[in-house]
Amino acid sequence: MTAWIDQAACRTHPNPDLWFPATADDPAYEARRICRQECPVRLDCGEAALTRSERHAVAGGYRMWEEEDLDRLRAELPHVAARFPKPKRQTAVCSDCGESFGTTKNQTRCGPCRGGLVAATATRNQLLQLRKFMTTEEIGARTGISPNTLSGIVSRTNPPERVKATTEERVLDLARALALSA
Ligand code: SF4
Ligand SMILES: [Zn+2]
Repeated sequence: MTAWIDQAACRTHPNPDLWFPATADDPAYEARRICRQECPVRLDCGEAALTRSERHAVAGGYRMWEEEDLDRLRAELPHVAARFPKPKRQTAVCSDCGESFGTTKNQTRCGPCRGGLVAATATRNQLLQLRKFMTTEEIGARTGISPNTLSGIVSRTNPPERVKATTEERVLDLARALALSA
């Protein structure tokens, strides 16, 4: 057994399944956090994952099934990446949002859609309406979304293109509730 494995933070974790999510939609936040903050052998692990063309697990702090993550790991380990050519990408059209995206795994939905993000337009429009008669703090209190997040969504200078689906849902719920009670 290679020595680095003995120091792997995931090795003694009570829930090793965190590193092997059941679906590609799973952002695996906790596994990635532990890799980055608690594992002393993160890059050894990343190197081993590139070497065996791992495409399912979280390794080295990255979801090996996500193109963006794989690119970042390869950038961290250029000497290893040079020995293992990237899998071929193809362009697909996302079945949810219709945007083109690159994939090496015949995925049918783009990364943002798989991550539970939706276009920000509907949320932004509703927030602009709501702010005509409520403060951002009041909207925050009613939706459970932080006022900072809400302000960001309607920012004039740097509005996000996407928001979490749950954010959209809560804002639209509030707008509906107010329209009903009016
Ligand atoms: S970097 Fe690798 S060895 Fe370390 S916790 Fe993450 S998956 Fe485990
Ligand atoms: Zn999409």
